Amino acid sequence: MDSSHDIKVWSIRNLIPDTHPRKDSLLVRENLVKQMETGAVVPQGLIAHGRGECFDYLLGERTNAFAERSIEAAAALLLLSSYPVISVNGNMAALAPKELVELSKEVHAPLEVNLFYRNEEREKKISEILRDAGASEVLGVGTDASETIQELFSERRKVSSRGIYKADIIFLAMEDGDRTEALIKLGKKVIAVDLNPLSRTSMAASITIVDNFIRVVPKLTTRVKEMKNMSKDELQRIFQSFNNKDNLKESLKFISERMSQLALSL
Ligand code: ATP
Repeated sequence: MDSSHDIKVWSIRNLIPDTHPRKDSLLVRENLVKQMETGAVVPQGLIAHGRGECFDYLLGERTNAFAERSIEAAAALLLLSSYPVISVNGNMAALAPKELVELSKEVHAPLEVNLFYRNEEREKKISEILRDAGASEVLGVGTDASETIQELFSERRKVSSRGIYKADIIFLAMEDGDRTEALIKLGKKVIAVDLNPLSRTSMAASITIVDNFIRVVPKLTTRVKEMKNMSKDELQRIFQSFNNKDNLKESLKFISERMSQLALSL
């Protein structure tokens, strides 16, 4: 770890007063910049984060009722799954590494590195972040990503035979839409975390959690723990009664009503 950057982050933490309304958000940005300097995050990842921040603003920067419902459906689906896999990119690893490892352990889902801007150095860097956070194994690094998803043309087509290739459920976040569409075409189910309810990923996923990834992962793990003792029938009932399109509509309605209320209050 670059100690000069640690000093910079430390001083920024101390420079921003606790009362600053955007302190958390600024520290998250700082962390992403730090991870960009290590090579785990690409500059394009910072732009994707900015798009997410904008939607988070509109959503009130909290987990809303529709997101709680999709988290519940996602927990049910993960518990019903025979082979779930968590697909990890640079932003995911930078934003919530420990939380991802905890989720992975709780649902027995391997962590697999899958990148649009792929090179072995980045794969290793991301794997290192996850291992430092407690992961005992990380798939999709180097020759482990030896299988190919024919439907995809980007570097994300390279997957592990022990991971995404054989998974029935894939948990992912901060993706563009092509891969989600390809995975669904292959008959897999996708749980996506995306702050933008209008993205192609959000539209194509089996379950979209319209919320910030940082808030979602620990909440999802907690929900899995709470639902662990439910019967398969009960879990099926929860998953079957969830409708992704309806949930996305609710999130859009929420944003629109919130904006109208805010406009009235100005
Ligand atoms: P699509 O191809 O699916 O329409 P896109 O082109 O917008 O998506 P990207 O540019 O890769 O895809 O953006 C990634 C997505 O991740 C964006 O929709 C953005 O809102 C979302 N996002 C960014 N940061 C977060 C976050 N912290 N939590 C959840 N979602 C996020």
